[in-house]
Amino acid sequence: MTASPEAVVVRVDRGRCIGSGMCALGAPAALVLGPDGVAEPLAPYADGGADLTPELADAVDYCPVEALTLLSARGGYRIAPSE
Ligand code: SF4
Repeated sequence: MTASPEAVVVRVDRGRCIGSGMCALGAPAALVLGPDGVAEPLAPYADGGADLTPELADAVDYCPVEALTLLSARGGYRIAPSE
């Protein structure tokens, strides 16, 4: 299966995540709190169309410990957090 141009990948730094759950609340279509209390992506990449990217970018930016990174699935470039 090939990722669409809008598909994104959310990476979770498991060593940093404190399990606040904010990202799972802000982007429930793509992130969930796992049984160990650490955030995890629901799928290897999220392909929810253009609307999902700003939602995920907000979730990444609001993570209190900067544990999230949002990348383009196709190009691999970083979308959030911004430099
Ligand atoms: S917002 Fe950050 S600290 Fe909170 S659950 Fe998500 S990744 Fe973990």
